[in-house]
Amino acid sequence: MIEENVKSLLGSLSVNPYGEKVTVVAAVKTQTPEDINAAIRAGITDIGDNRVQEFTQKYAAIEGNPKRHFIGRLQTNKIKYLIGKVDLYHSVDRIDLAEELSLAGHKKGASLNILLQVNIGNEVTKGGFEFDKLFSAYERIAAMPALKIKGLMAMLPASDDAALLSSLARKMRTAYDKLKDGDPGISVLSMGMSGDYRLCIDAGSNMIRLGTAVFGKRDV
Ligand SMILES: *Cc1c(COP(=O)(O)O)cnc(C)c1O
Repeated sequence: MIEENVKSLLGSLSVNPYGEKVTVVAAVKTQTPEDINAAIRAGITDIGDNRVQEFTQKYAAIEGNPKRHFIGRLQTNKIKYLIGKVDLYHSVDRIDLAEELSLAGHKKGASLNILLQVNIGNEVTKGGFEFDKLFSAYERIAAMPALKIKGLMAMLPASDDAALLSSLARKMRTAYDKLKDGDPGISVLSMGMSGDYRLCIDAGSNMIRLGTAVFGKRDV
């Protein structure tokens, strides 16, 4: 089933309305290494973890050398387990986390690729910078020595109101374009999950994070 899901998914995606290729990051929380490896064999090139412990436990069992993303909420005391293993940190949602990541990168002599997470729906249950504080956060974090800001990440609220979701997604694309105008290093807008990825791509997302659409329904 995973193989069919991946093949039909990858076959159905092309570019977004801006002509940018859309990258699928398989959200692998709760999945076994066998299932993750099946998705990679079927064509998945990027995988994203939510939990540090799961990431660490499964790390060596993953085959095919996919790009590694960290997409979950990150506590500063767990950074040390990820350093050197993660290609892109999606969920940088506060200044102190950015400072700790920069420090950890600096100690390793590495520069870490990050996305700034935006709480586009203003939800208390979600992390992310408030939209109105995004540009000031960007200025502060862009000045940190061992970080490279590659773009923005957002999770849209759970809602059946497609017009509302599209307007939030377009607001994210506008902010992304504004940052990109002043910073040629910006190239990633990570937005879209199994329930809303089509409208996110239509609004200009170029990276989607899919769990259910790849692996089927999860219990948690
Ligand atoms: C689980 C998860 C996803 C994927 O969710 P699905 O609805 O199963 O596609 C995407 N992003 C984050 C941050 C997640 O935790």
